[in-house]
Amino acid sequence: MNVVKPLSNQAYEAQWMPFTANREFKASPRLVQRSEGVRLWNQNGEPLIDGSSGLFNVAAGHGRKEIAEAVYRQMLENDYTPPFQMGHPGAFALADKVAELLPEPMNHVFFVNSGSEAIDTALKMVMAYHRARGESQRLRFVSRERAYHGVNMGGTSLAGMVRNRETFPVVMPNVVMLRHTWDEAQAFTRGQPETGAELADDLQRFCEAYGAGTIAAVFVEPIAGSTGVLVPPKGYLERLRAICDRHGILLVFDEVITGFGRTGKAFAAQTFGVTPDIITMAKAITNGAIPMGAVAARDEIYETITGAAPENAIEFFHGYTYSGHPAACAAGLATLEIYEREGLFEKAAELSPYFLDAIWSLKDLDVVRDLRGHGLIAGVEVHPEPGKPGLRGNELQKRLFWNGCHVKWTGDTAIVAPSFVATRADVDEIVGCIRKTIESV
Ligand code: PMP
Repeated sequence: MNVVKPLSNQAYEAQWMPFTANREFKASPRLVQRSEGVRLWNQNGEPLIDGSSGLFNVAAGHGRKEIAEAVYRQMLENDYTPPFQMGHPGAFALADKVAELLPEPMNHVFFVNSGSEAIDTALKMVMAYHRARGESQRLRFVSRERAYHGVNMGGTSLAGMVRNRETFPVVMPNVVMLRHTWDEAQAFTRGQPETGAELADDLQRFCEAYGAGTIAAVFVEPIAGSTGVLVPPKGYLERLRAICDRHGILLVFDEVITGFGRTGKAFAAQTFGVTPDIITMAKAITNGAIPMGAVAARDEIYETITGAAPENAIEFFHGYTYSGHPAACAAGLATLEIYEREGLFEKAAELSPYFLDAIWSLKDLDVVRDLRGHGLIAGVEVHPEPGKPGLRGNELQKRLFWNGCHVKWTGDTAIVAPSFVATRADVDEIVGCIRKTIESV
């Protein structure tokens, strides 16, 4: 087998790394050479525990042979089929399986290759739907402060993380932002905050300010993940749903992180009991093994868009060379089989109270500003260094790596999200490593 080993004289120069301080990184690279279960091994052969399941995608743990073998068999049998005007059985089989997991009445799944592509696809789906209904004046999109919806041009337009948008000013002009739902007064709330549902009324104000008939859709992450795990206040998502219903606005849940069990049910839509019109997903759909994403739509959206075109006409001018790639579909099918066979969504729900208890044990550390969490995802926010937001988080992420734990930080918040196969001892190890590392600064 050809596995790339680190070279002793490697300069690590040619790869321009994403979301990375390249010059700083290359002076002291952090490489992962091997991964299995909840463990990673760095370039020196030292083990780390994976406290963020990769980037919240490796839900069933690393190195799942069933997935590797399914991909290998698929590659030998049929490595590629164009997805336009023809197909292959794996894509239909995977769409059926995803539809089984989705809330009713969502039974249609469009495949893409990442969360970012899922968002841009969902934006186009929304536009196509309103156009098909003769409402093409609905061109305004609503997002939320502190939202992360990927980095393609659509997702960049919806970005509530200012730094992801400010370098690229030529984005969709017609986006307005709901206020985010975090409030200092809610600090250390476990699960859904009691207060804040009324923040959803920002949407009602937009309806009055701009005219409800100009608003196409609202995009929200049920739990905002990449900005530090903001759990929705009780009643908030319900209130957004009600306002959307009143005004013919589509509700899109970006479940790229929450999809596939992270909140203890297949989708956060089910956990929170609110069914959107469109769900974007990616990450854990293949357990992180092969890039893939998907957009699920309510039956009525699919039927409206496909029904609007005359016989034999293409109705949705959108798709990718690698939409529903056979290898990704094989990985997805093998992954969903593991989730089902091993009851991993239920395991995530079972482990959640223990996990959140462990996270809340960090409350005594003076530097900890807030703890937030739900299911198997939690944010550990530390006070920023005066005048230097993000610096402490960045330093802690690096130190954690050399202390034997991978945890993804965003600004000054650690996003802790173990895999669903993690044991209580693994949780203790992750939280112990976070404590030790925080205590060292
Ligand atoms: N939406 C959300 C909610 C995400 O968390 C992410 C990635 N963290 C994305 C979209 C983008 O996904 P990708 O990086 O696969 O493009």
